[in-house]
Amino acid sequence: MSEFDYDLLVIGAGSGGVRAARMASAAGARVGVIEDRYMGGTCVNVGCVPKKLYVYASEYGKGFSDARGFGWQTGAASFDWHTLRDNKKAEIARLNAIYEDILGGVDADIINGRGSLVDAHTVAVGKRHYSAEKILIATGGWPHIPDFPGSEYAITSNEIFDLEHFPQRIVIVGGGYIAVEFAGIFNGLGAQVTQLYRGPLFLRGFDTDIRAHAAQEIPKSGVDLRMETNVESIARHGEELLLTLTDGSELACDCVLYATGRKPHLQGLGLENVNVGLTQSGTLAVDDDFRTSEPSIFALGDVIGGLELTPVALAEGMAFARKQFGDPRGPVDYDFVPTAVFCQPNIGTVGFTEEAALQEFGEITLYKSAFRPMKHTISGRDEKTLMKLIVDTASDRVVGVHMMGPDAGEIIQGMAIALRAGATKQLFDTTIGIHPTAAEEFVTMREPWLED
Ligand code: FAD
Ligand code: NDP
Repeated sequence: MSEFDYDLLVIGAGSGGVRAARMASAAGARVGVIEDRYMGGTCVNVGCVPKKLYVYASEYGKGFSDARGFGWQTGAASFDWHTLRDNKKAEIARLNAIYEDILGGVDADIINGRGSLVDAHTVAVGKRHYSAEKILIATGGWPHIPDFPGSEYAITSNEIFDLEHFPQRIVIVGGGYIAVEFAGIFNGLGAQVTQLYRGPLFLRGFDTDIRAHAAQEIPKSGVDLRMETNVESIARHGEELLLTLTDGSELACDCVLYATGRKPHLQGLGLENVNVGLTQSGTLAVDDDFRTSEPSIFALGDVIGGLELTPVALAEGMAFARKQFGDPRGPVDYDFVPTAVFCQPNIGTVGFTEEAALQEFGEITLYKSAFRPMKHTISGRDEKTLMKLIVDTASDRVVGVHMMGPDAGEIIQGMAIALRAGATKQLFDTTIGIHPTAAEEFVTMREPWLED
């Protein structure tokens, strides 16, 4: 019998932690999972899932007006925030229970409370101490609001889902995933949305053509998108918030959402009691096996930085459990991880951006297509799709696929398989399309794009 209470103690029941716990427990390990907030972590409670439900909600508004061109007469549509919010709550409660069942089903113990490291093999939860041969830190990230006068009036993605009142005027600060997605959500739900980004072009890290296309399309849908603009201060005047911006102007609103990035969730974790090192950016430093500098302590998911995406945390949880508790199948392969921004329309992307491909391969060939989606020829909506392929000229391999258009998130998932399989442009060309779809454009772009 082991000298420890558990073979594995996981701190954090989010995407990565639950997956690791489930796999380790299924492999015969005695597992405890410590969670102080919500089962399923960020993704289930204040991330991917409620966000996507709100994205669906936000698409109806324009859908009603699109329908008129197709002959539908709809009466005046109105939106009720409380119905959406409360239906979302019920769905999340259902998912929380499923997560508990998943752990119960493999006999992992759920320990409710905040976990704090006492030493390399011990975690305190309140007054109780639990010992384990191995400890996994999967505590995720936490939204970060910069410090400035009035920053206490800003809220984050943690609070936005459950607002008591629907904000008629909302200012969203940031130019990454969360800011862009929530600008689309609140715009679609009928709020007056202003999005502020501090630099010349938002969505840093995405392909420049996609960023420029998004900057052109998003304002068309009604978002007041302002680049090179930041907030200097926020003051409260009764129910209203008054923002002073860096260009000297003022902006009144009901709600300010800061989506200015997330930091690893390390508060109160007791790191001072163990020998766990940090990277320069403040995430936990780990080796290829997710081991920290303390041999018995491991970490994965958002808390180690890298690609902060649920499927990545899941893959890491799985690889960790397999490696430590039997059946190792090699490390996580981070090549060609696809991703989507669920704005309207979606951005879907996999592989190299044009800039990165140029650096990596030297000579590349580009294929681009911009067009009005067939649906909007009759709906009358002014929206354009952009699709782009990046090919390594020497090998003919397609190394980047980027799209902004309806269902781009769905379309790019399949493209990721093709790119991981090493598909060449010739293979794309000889693949027969599905007609009529937007996706078929990816196999019918014949002429290379020549810059003017
Ligand atoms: P988390 O899921 O954050 O889980 C960490 C858990 O640890 C939490 O439950 C927390 O309460 C708990 N915890 C922390 N400290 C302690 C402690 N000391 N003791 C006990 N428990 C503790 N990704 C996508 O792939 N697609 C999307 O569409 C998407 N949308 C997103 C939308 C939003 C608004 C946000 C914020 C994120 C989104 N993400 C999305 C990112 C995704 O949610 C994260 O990458 C993922 O949840 C990371 O999983 P994790 O296991 O590392 O951490
Ligand atoms: P991001 O890192 O994506 O974006 C942060 C944004 O805030 C950037 O535009 C950044 O600007 C800006 N910013 C940072 N600091 C400041 C500041 N002091 N003042 C003004 N602006 C600032 O973070 P998010 O919070 O949007 O999302 C966190 C992570 O969660 C994402 O990176 C992603 O991995 C994950 N996520 C995934 C989703 C999906 O898969 N669909 C959806 C939502 C989140 P700059 O570029 O100039 O640094």
